[in-house]
Amino acid sequence: ASKAARRPICDLPDELVSQIAAGEVVERPASVVRELVDNALDAGATQITLRLLAGGVRLISVEDDGCGIPQAELAVALRRHATSKIRTLDDLESVATMGFRGEALAAIASVSELALLSRPAGQDSAFLLDARSGELRPVARAMGTTVEVKELFFSTPARRKFLKTDTTELAHCVEAVRRHALARPDVGFAIWHEGKLVQQWRIALTHGAGAGALERRLADVLGEEFLEQSVALTHQEGRITLTGRAGLPDTARARADQQYCYVNGRFVRDKVVAHAARSAYEDVLHGQRQPVYALYIDIDPARVDVNVHPTKIEVRFRDSREVHQAVRHAIESALAAPRAGAVAAAPP
Ligand code: ADP
Ligand code: MG
Repeated sequence: ASKAARRPICDLPDELVSQIAAGEVVERPASVVRELVDNALDAGATQITLRLLAGGVRLISVEDDGCGIPQAELAVALRRHATSKIRTLDDLESVATMGFRGEALAAIASVSELALLSRPAGQDSAFLLDARSGELRPVARAMGTTVEVKELFFSTPARRKFLKTDTTELAHCVEAVRRHALARPDVGFAIWHEGKLVQQWRIALTHGAGAGALERRLADVLGEEFLEQSVALTHQEGRITLTGRAGLPDTARARADQQYCYVNGRFVRDKVVAHAARSAYEDVLHGQRQPVYALYIDIDPARVDVNVHPTKIEVRFRDSREVHQAVRHAIESALAAPRAGAVAAAPP
């Protein structure tokens, strides 16, 4: 299934480790989900299936059809600062993968019972490595990887106490997958909870351009109403390209809970972008209403630092003014041509 060229997993050199924004990544089940789905996407998966028990506290299993991990590297994958994604400081400065710190599996394994099952192309059988016991045994599996995380925070009851109800934790897990799904219409996602399918976002079967696939995915994830009540935006300014859709002013909400922003495919929360978007709506939004949008910013990787926060949800732009202007202009011009990019709604 995967076309991603796979490189061996190696320990990062110490100089590079010291350059990496380190820290805790495992806060709740959704943090685990985010990291495991990142890994599946980096492995070139086209279908990712998440299975949860008790909101993810009892089990989080993420199954993919990506490039897999050779038997000999399973143990390496669990080592802190071991990664197949970067080698040098130069790589770090132009990182194109979701991961690069080589810490997630190690961090998750330290607060759970983790098993890694994988089968790369050209290996006769899959192998399962139990992180706790170190036991390695052959298992049946098609090409790809499954990571099973059981009993999260079982050894740290203080952490476990901070978890909310299963329903709330499940909602956070679904939101974590939703963020990925909105960036990757070329990948199918399914989420099961307690044996029931709770969400499924299929690969859009559209003929033609990629924009069609993105619109289908946006409608699947955010609802048909979002597609009908938003305008398409495409904007280029300097070295920045923006695409996506901006909700019409009427669709603004009390909470800023439908503002999806991606920088080079990575979901981010960024004050500069949020402020720019807000100011683009300044004249058309009243009070504290929050606009709805899905914004995809493509920028030279050398002009954005993704290595500022351990969860990589924050980035730092080298020139935040140019980003602010581009975002503002992109949304303003989309809104100024009302409905121009909107998908025609059915006649009343
Ligand atoms: P990082 O993603 O920063 O490299 P991780 O701890 O998340 O660090 O993963 C360590 C390594 O294990 C990855 O670099 C990758 O080579 C391998 N790996 C993890 N998950 C998968 C997966 N689902 N498919 C293939 N390889 C994986
Ligand atoms: Mg990772």
